[in-house]
Amino acid sequence: MFNSLKLGKIFGIDLYVHGTFWLLPLLVLFTGLSSSVAVIVLNLLLVFAVFACVALHEVGHALAAAAYGIRTGDITLYPIGGVASLEGMPEKPSQEIAVALAGPAVNLVIAAGMLAGIFVSGMTLPWANSTDLVDVFVSNLFWANLMLFGFNLLPAFPMDGGRVLRALLSIRMTRLRATEIAAKVSTVLAVGFLLMGLYLPSISLMVVAVVVWLLGQAELAAMRMHEASKDFERRMGGYFAPVPDPEPRPAASVAEDLAARRFSGLAWNPERRVWVQWQNGVPVREIPT
Ligand SMILES: [Zn+2]
Repeated sequence: MFNSLKLGKIFGIDLYVHGTFWLLPLLVLFTGLSSSVAVIVLNLLLVFAVFACVALHEVGHALAAAAYGIRTGDITLYPIGGVASLEGMPEKPSQEIAVALAGPAVNLVIAAGMLAGIFVSGMTLPWANSTDLVDVFVSNLFWANLMLFGFNLLPAFPMDGGRVLRALLSIRMTRLRATEIAAKVSTVLAVGFLLMGLYLPSISLMVVAVVVWLLGQAELAAMRMHEASKDFERRMGGYFAPVPDPEPRPAASVAEDLAARRFSGLAWNPERRVWVQWQNGVPVREIPT
Protein backbone atom coordinates (compact mmCIF):
# COMPACT_ATOMS: atom_id res chain seq x y z
CA MET A 1 0.00 0.00 0.00
CA PHE A 2 2.85 2.38 0.82
CA ASN A 3 4.94 1.62 -2.25
CA SER A 4 6.38 4.51 -4.21
CA LEU A 5 4.86 5.43 -7.54
CA LYS A 6 7.19 6.62 -10.29
CA LEU A 7 5.81 9.79 -11.87
CA GLY A 8 8.52 10.17 -14.50
CA LYS A 9 11.78 12.03 -14.88
CA ILE A 10 12.51 15.61 -13.92
CA PHE A 11 15.80 17.04 -15.27
CA GLY A 12 16.86 13.45 -15.94
CA ILE A 13 16.21 12.36 -12.30
CA ASP A 14 13.56 9.74 -11.44
CA LEU A 15 10.67 11.34 -9.57
CA TYR A 16 8.71 9.14 -7.13
CA VAL A 17 5.68 9.77 -4.97
CA HIS A 18 5.72 7.78 -1.73
CA GLY A 19 2.53 5.84 -0.91
CA THR A 20 1.97 7.88 2.27
CA PHE A 21 1.83 11.07 0.18
CA TRP A 22 -1.79 10.31 -0.81
CA LEU A 23 -2.84 10.72 2.84
CA LEU A 24 -2.42 14.47 2.29
CA PRO A 25 -5.00 14.97 -0.51
CA LEU A 26 -7.27 12.55 1.40
CA LEU A 27 -6.95 14.76 4.48
CA VAL A 28 -7.76 17.85 2.38
CA LEU A 29 -10.78 16.03 0.97
CA PHE A 30 -12.13 15.00 4.38
CA THR A 31 -11.50 18.27 6.21
CA GLY A 32 -13.18 20.18 3.36
CA LEU A 33 -16.29 18.01 3.10
CA SER A 34 -18.53 20.84 4.31
CA SER A 35 -17.06 23.28 1.73
CA SER A 36 -18.24 23.80 -1.83
CA VAL A 37 -16.93 21.54 -4.57
CA ALA A 38 -15.02 24.49 -6.07
CA VAL A 39 -13.14 25.08 -2.80
CA ILE A 40 -12.30 21.37 -2.41
CA VAL A 41 -10.99 21.20 -5.99
CA LEU A 42 -9.00 24.39 -5.42
CA ASN A 43 -7.42 22.99 -2.24
CA LEU A 44 -6.54 19.72 -3.96
CA LEU A 45 -4.96 21.60 -6.87
CA LEU A 46 -3.06 23.69 -4.34
CA VAL A 47 -1.62 20.55 -2.67
CA PHE A 48 -0.37 19.28 -6.04
CA ALA A 49 0.98 22.71 -7.06
CA VAL A 50 2.85 23.10 -3.75
CA PHE A 51 4.37 19.64 -4.17
CA ALA A 52 5.42 20.49 -7.72
CA CYS A 53 7.34 23.37 -6.11
CA VAL A 54 8.75 20.95 -3.49
CA ALA A 55 9.97 18.73 -6.36
CA LEU A 56 11.62 21.76 -8.01
CA HIS A 57 13.24 22.60 -4.64
CA GLU A 58 14.79 19.11 -4.65
CA VAL A 59 15.88 19.58 -8.27
CA GLY A 60 17.72 22.69 -7.03
CA HIS A 61 19.73 20.54 -4.59
CA ALA A 62 20.33 17.90 -7.27
CA LEU A 63 21.61 20.40 -9.88
CA ALA A 64 23.91 22.09 -7.36
CA ALA A 65 25.27 18.68 -6.32
CA ALA A 66 25.76 17.74 -10.00
CA ALA A 67 27.92 20.85 -10.38
CA TYR A 68 30.32 19.19 -7.87
CA GLY A 69 30.15 15.83 -9.65
CA ILE A 70 27.66 14.24 -7.21
CA ARG A 71 24.84 12.27 -8.80
CA THR A 72 21.27 12.09 -7.47
CA GLY A 73 19.66 8.66 -7.30
CA ASP A 74 16.07 9.86 -7.24
CA ILE A 75 13.67 12.41 -5.80
CA THR A 76 10.80 11.13 -3.61
CA LEU A 77 7.86 13.19 -2.38
CA TYR A 78 6.51 12.43 1.11
CA PRO A 79 3.51 14.13 2.77
CA ILE A 80 5.94 16.20 4.88
CA GLY A 81 8.24 17.17 2.00
CA GLY A 82 10.63 15.90 -0.62
CA VAL A 83 13.93 14.06 -0.41
CA ALA A 84 16.64 14.09 -3.09
CA SER A 85 18.86 11.07 -2.44
CA LEU A 86 22.29 12.41 -3.32
CA GLU A 87 24.98 9.79 -3.80
CA GLY A 88 27.22 11.58 -1.31
CA MET A 89 27.77 15.06 0.05
CA PRO A 90 30.68 17.37 -0.71
CA GLU A 91 32.92 17.41 2.37
CA LYS A 92 34.08 20.97 1.61
CA PRO A 93 31.90 23.24 3.78
CA SER A 94 31.46 25.88 1.04
CA GLN A 95 30.17 23.25 -1.41
CA GLU A 96 27.86 21.69 1.17
CA ILE A 97 26.43 25.16 1.87
CA ALA A 98 25.89 25.80 -1.86
CA VAL A 99 24.06 22.46 -2.26
CA ALA A 100 21.91 23.15 0.83
CA LEU A 101 21.00 26.70 -0.22
CA ALA A 102 20.14 25.75 -3.81
CA GLY A 103 16.80 24.23 -2.70
CA PRO A 104 15.36 27.22 -0.81
CA ALA A 105 16.74 29.50 -3.55
CA VAL A 106 14.41 27.76 -6.04
CA ASN A 107 11.37 28.61 -3.87
CA LEU A 108 12.51 32.22 -3.56
CA VAL A 109 12.87 32.45 -7.35
CA ILE A 110 9.39 30.93 -7.84
CA ALA A 111 7.85 33.39 -5.34
CA ALA A 112 9.62 36.34 -6.98
CA GLY A 113 8.53 35.15 -10.44
CA MET A 114 4.94 34.78 -9.26
CA LEU A 115 4.97 38.25 -7.73
CA ALA A 116 6.29 39.71 -10.99
CA GLY A 117 3.55 37.84 -12.89
CA ILE A 118 0.89 39.14 -10.48
CA PHE A 119 2.12 42.73 -10.96
CA VAL A 120 2.28 42.47 -14.74
CA SER A 121 -1.13 40.80 -15.11
CA GLY A 122 -2.79 43.20 -12.67
CA MET A 123 -4.08 40.37 -10.43
CA THR A 124 -4.88 41.00 -6.77
CA LEU A 125 -1.71 41.21 -4.70
CA PRO A 126 -1.09 38.22 -2.36
CA TRP A 127 -1.47 40.38 0.79
CA ALA A 128 -4.76 41.96 -0.35
CA ASN A 129 -8.07 40.26 0.40
CA SER A 130 -9.86 38.62 -2.49
CA THR A 131 -12.67 36.11 -2.74
CA ASP A 132 -11.89 35.29 -6.36
CA LEU A 133 -10.82 31.62 -6.38
CA VAL A 134 -7.99 32.11 -8.88
CA ASP A 135 -6.60 34.98 -6.78
CA VAL A 136 -6.81 32.83 -3.64
CA PHE A 137 -5.04 29.93 -5.39
CA VAL A 138 -2.23 32.13 -6.73
CA SER A 139 -1.69 34.00 -3.46
CA ASN A 140 -1.69 30.74 -1.44
CA LEU A 141 0.91 29.24 -3.78
CA PHE A 142 3.00 32.42 -3.42
CA TRP A 143 2.90 32.25 0.40
CA ALA A 144 3.57 28.50 0.32
CA ASN A 145 6.80 29.14 -1.61
CA LEU A 146 7.86 31.88 0.82
CA MET A 147 7.16 29.47 3.68
CA LEU A 148 9.15 26.69 1.98
CA PHE A 149 11.99 29.19 1.64
CA GLY A 150 11.84 30.44 5.25
CA PHE A 151 11.08 27.12 6.95
CA ASN A 152 13.93 25.33 5.18
CA LEU A 153 16.40 27.97 6.30
CA LEU A 154 15.69 27.27 10.01
CA PRO A 155 19.02 26.07 11.45
CA ALA A 156 17.74 22.58 12.37
CA PHE A 157 17.98 19.12 10.85
CA PRO A 158 16.40 17.91 8.59
CA MET A 159 15.94 21.39 7.16
CA ASP A 160 18.55 22.81 4.79
CA GLY A 161 19.44 25.46 7.38
CA GLY A 162 20.63 22.63 9.68
CA ARG A 163 23.09 21.55 6.99
CA VAL A 164 24.28 25.12 6.48
CA LEU A 165 24.84 25.45 10.25
CA ARG A 166 26.77 22.16 10.38
CA ALA A 167 28.91 23.15 7.40
CA LEU A 168 29.69 26.57 8.97
CA LEU A 169 30.60 24.94 12.29
CA SER A 170 32.74 22.28 10.59
CA ILE A 171 35.09 25.00 9.30
CA ARG A 172 36.27 25.37 12.92
CA MET A 173 35.78 21.81 14.27
CA THR A 174 35.35 18.17 13.27
CA ARG A 175 32.21 17.24 11.34
CA LEU A 176 31.13 15.03 14.24
CA ARG A 177 31.37 17.87 16.79
CA ALA A 178 29.60 20.22 14.32
CA THR A 179 26.80 17.66 13.86
CA GLU A 180 26.45 17.26 17.64
CA ILE A 181 25.98 21.01 18.08
CA ALA A 182 23.59 21.25 15.09
CA ALA A 183 21.53 18.35 16.50
CA LYS A 184 21.33 20.19 19.86
CA VAL A 185 20.02 23.30 18.06
CA SER A 186 17.46 21.03 16.32
CA THR A 187 16.29 19.74 19.71
CA VAL A 188 15.89 23.31 21.03
CA LEU A 189 13.87 24.25 17.93
CA ALA A 190 11.77 21.10 18.24
CA VAL A 191 10.92 22.04 21.84
CA GLY A 192 9.99 25.53 20.59
CA PHE A 193 7.69 24.03 17.92
CA LEU A 194 6.11 21.74 20.51
CA LEU A 195 5.40 24.59 22.96
CA MET A 196 4.00 26.73 20.13
CA GLY A 197 1.89 23.76 18.96
CA LEU A 198 0.50 23.29 22.49
CA TYR A 199 -0.13 27.02 22.91
CA LEU A 200 -1.96 27.65 19.61
CA PRO A 201 -3.00 24.69 19.67
CA SER A 202 -1.83 23.15 16.39
CA ILE A 203 -1.53 19.40 15.85
CA SER A 204 0.54 19.85 12.67
CA LEU A 205 3.09 22.00 14.52
CA MET A 206 3.38 19.29 17.19
CA VAL A 207 3.95 16.70 14.45
CA VAL A 208 6.65 18.96 12.94
CA ALA A 209 8.26 19.18 16.41
CA VAL A 210 8.45 15.39 16.73
CA VAL A 211 9.74 14.97 13.14
CA VAL A 212 12.43 17.65 13.62
CA TRP A 213 13.59 16.05 16.87
CA LEU A 214 13.63 12.48 15.47
CA LEU A 215 15.39 13.39 12.23
CA GLY A 216 17.91 15.57 14.09
CA GLN A 217 18.80 12.57 16.26
CA ALA A 218 18.90 10.32 13.17
CA GLU A 219 21.36 12.70 11.47
CA LEU A 220 23.57 12.61 14.56
CA ALA A 221 23.40 8.80 14.74
CA ALA A 222 24.29 8.51 11.03
CA MET A 223 27.29 10.83 11.48
CA ARG A 224 28.49 8.88 14.54
CA MET A 225 28.22 5.65 12.56
CA HIS A 226 30.11 7.18 9.61
CA GLU A 227 32.89 8.44 11.90
CA ALA A 228 33.09 5.10 13.73
CA SER A 229 33.49 3.18 10.46
CA LYS A 230 36.14 5.65 9.27
CA ASP A 231 37.94 5.23 12.59
CA PHE A 232 37.71 1.43 12.25
CA GLU A 233 39.17 1.56 8.72
CA ARG A 234 41.95 3.85 9.89
CA ARG A 235 42.89 1.50 12.72
CA MET A 236 42.58 -1.61 10.56
CA GLY A 237 44.73 0.13 7.94
CA GLY A 238 47.62 -0.50 10.34
CA TYR A 239 47.07 -4.26 10.12
CA PHE A 240 45.95 -4.78 6.55
CA ALA A 241 47.43 -3.43 3.35
CA PRO A 242 44.87 -1.81 1.03
CA VAL A 243 42.45 -4.24 -0.64
CA PRO A 244 43.84 -5.18 -4.07
CA ASP A 245 42.57 -3.05 -6.97
CA PRO A 246 40.34 -4.70 -9.58
CA GLU A 247 43.27 -4.18 -11.95
CA PRO A 248 46.13 -5.31 -9.73
CA ARG A 249 49.37 -3.42 -9.80
CA PRO A 250 52.41 -5.62 -10.45
CA ALA A 251 53.28 -7.38 -7.21
CA ALA A 252 56.80 -5.95 -7.47
CA SER A 253 55.60 -2.35 -7.17
CA VAL A 254 53.28 -3.26 -4.28
CA ALA A 255 56.21 -4.96 -2.57
CA GLU A 256 58.44 -1.92 -3.07
CA ASP A 257 55.71 0.24 -1.61
CA LEU A 258 55.28 -2.00 1.45
CA ALA A 259 59.04 -2.17 1.95
CA ALA A 260 59.30 1.62 1.76
CA ARG A 261 56.46 1.98 4.32
CA ARG A 262 58.18 -0.58 6.61
CA PHE A 263 54.79 -2.28 6.59
CA SER A 264 53.81 -4.83 9.24
CA GLY A 265 50.73 -6.95 8.72
CA LEU A 266 49.04 -8.92 5.96
CA ALA A 267 49.21 -8.00 2.28
CA TRP A 268 47.63 -9.79 -0.68
CA ASN A 269 49.95 -10.94 -3.46
CA PRO A 270 47.69 -10.97 -6.55
CA GLU A 271 50.18 -12.88 -8.73
CA ARG A 272 50.78 -15.72 -6.32
CA ARG A 273 47.21 -15.41 -4.94
CA VAL A 274 48.33 -15.68 -1.33
CA TRP A 275 48.31 -13.49 1.76
CA VAL A 276 51.83 -12.60 2.82
CA GLN A 277 52.81 -11.66 6.32
CA TRP A 278 55.17 -8.69 6.48
CA GLN A 279 57.37 -7.52 9.32
CA ASN A 280 58.87 -4.02 9.17
CA GLY A 281 58.79 -3.94 5.37
CA VAL A 282 60.08 -7.51 4.94
CA PRO A 283 57.89 -10.42 3.79
CA VAL A 284 58.32 -13.13 6.43
CA ARG A 285 55.89 -15.87 5.36
CA GLU A 286 53.07 -16.78 3.04
CA ILE A 287 49.75 -17.81 4.50
CA PRO A 288 48.19 -20.66 2.54
CA THR A 289 44.54 -20.14 1.65
ZN1 LIG B 1 15.92 21.30 0.79
